[in-house]
Amino acid sequence: MRIVLMGPPGAGKGTQATVISQELNIPHISTGEIFRRNVGEGTELGIQAKEYMDKGEYVPDSVVNAMVADRLGQDDAAHGFLLDGYPRTAPQVAELNGILADGGYELDAAVEITADTEEVVQRLLKRAEVEGRADDTEEVIRRRMEVYAAETEPLTRLYADQGVLRQVDGMGSVEEVSGRILAALRD
Ligand code: ADP
Repeated sequence: MRIVLMGPPGAGKGTQATVISQELNIPHISTGEIFRRNVGEGTELGIQAKEYMDKGEYVPDSVVNAMVADRLGQDDAAHGFLLDGYPRTAPQVAELNGILADGGYELDAAVEITADTEEVVQRLLKRAEVEGRADDTEEVIRRRMEVYAAETEPLTRLYADQGVLRQVDGMGSVEEVSGRILAALRD
């Protein structure tokens, strides 16, 4: 299956993507994780991405698209993938559509995990205490939410028009939410 997972910061994309990718035996590709790894290793890509991530802004499309095109070209993604946190902008949707069309594939589902804003801000502040992610300060969290609402949430319309959008309530336990996602993918 070829799936994209969308949803505001703190909705639980990363956690759910891990569960779902294991269940369906497809690679979990998280652009946020790839960026964080590169920041940690101090690569050129990491240095470029960090200035945006620290402010809660999106990394430029040219940078993200090149990275994803490269990752999806690797062997393990040939038979399916779960993209976590990509696409987030209209040019990224176009890039992914192009990559899929070139391979003669279609997207099977765009899963949007929905969540209450205040609830997710609180979740992220709690995560900040545990994981210490650089972008989990209240100011940056609120900026990430705004950017999501302005740039990414409207894109779900495109996937609804394609008939592949599946909206799933992200409130509840990890198991409840993954159960909902798997059920939605079977529809
Ligand atoms: P969150 O779920 O909190 O948005 P992620 O781990 O998915 O966290 O992403 C962290 C940061 O990495 C984003 O705030 C952004 O700066 C950058 N990033 C990740 N994916 C993308 C993308 N598809 N386009 C642009 N920037 C991205």
